[in-house]
Amino acid sequence: MKRRNFIKNASLTGVGLAVGNSLLSCDDKYKKTSEKTVSVDAPKGSFPLVIATWNVKNATAKAWEVIQNGGSALDAVEQGCMVEEADETGQSVGKGGLPDRDGHVTLDACIMDKYGNCGSVVFLENVVHAVSVARKVMEETPHVMLAGKGAEQFAYEKGFPKENLLTEASKKAWEEWKKTSEYKPIINIENHDTIGMLAIDKNGDISGACTTSGLAYKMHGRVGDSPIIGSGLFVDNEIGACVATGLGEEVVKTVGSFLVVELMRQGKSPQEACEEAISRIVNKPNSNYKDFQVGYIAVNKKGETGTYSIHQGFSMTKFQENSNENLQSTHFLTE
Ligand code: ASP
Repeated sequence: MKRRNFIKNASLTGVGLAVGNSLLSCDDKYKKTSEKTVSVDAPKGSFPLVIATWNVKNATAKAWEVIQNGGSALDAVEQGCMVEEADETGQSVGKGGLPDRDGHVTLDACIMDKYGNCGSVVFLENVVHAVSVARKVMEETPHVMLAGKGAEQFAYEKGFPKENLLTEASKKAWEEWKKTSEYKPIINIENHDTIGMLAIDKNGDISGACTTSGLAYKMHGRVGDSPIIGSGLFVDNEIGACVATGLGEEVVKTVGSFLVVELMRQGKSPQEACEEAISRIVNKPNSNYKDFQVGYIAVNKKGETGTYSIHQGFSMTKFQENSNENLQSTHFLTE
């Protein structure tokens, strides 16, 4: 199933649940801990490994290949993310990404290495490989983040080609959307997913990257969590790493990825840390969490992984011990 369909199904399930008894009772009792769903991701601590948000086996296969050839986790996550950025059929990342409400495809991406160095680009137009531009920001400037026209100009200076990112298919989808929309993004239906990737190389070093076109039909100028270090992504080579997908505003408000890594530092497993980070969102007073999706994936220094989301439908792709698998995430809302 395509990533967008996962999100759509999740959201429909969520709507159905909102009137169901099971959810009502779950709401009542769920104030501190989650309703557990069956985990198919039995954590096995070994490395090298690559994990990514959603069903992106081509991307994890590329990253795995880089590591097998002696490459670093940093090279692996960059090249893995590039696979998705170049894939025009994926309407959420790079070329072919769905545009904002004014018809502009604007990209957000970031990357973080084993030293805690990071680079990020936000609101970048006309350049496919936002993750690579983010890496250049990290490695070839004294800054962490470049935005908009400045990021675009920097990319051209570094030799990235100028390209129209709005494909015919995405243009058509946007034109369809304009006919019926209320001129605001529809949360959690066909409109968000991000490629976030974490890797541990043969030396045991961790890196991560994240790249997205953000919410489809967002306000022009809107930036989500994905390029925000600590929110969309965080790596601490001594502890582990985390990357997020879903409604970026909610991830930013809880500084989600940094939170997950800090919880692992305090002794939680990656799974427990992801669950706690989701519980921070759903336990907020007046949280309308039934109406949006957030998902986290995390890995610790031993190569144990975790994944958790609010709604059903989120998944993680994991390449470990020569096996490249897509695993359904456990989730907060029960069916
Ligand atoms: N987190 C991204 C954003 O809010 C969207 C996504 O994950 O689909 O921009």
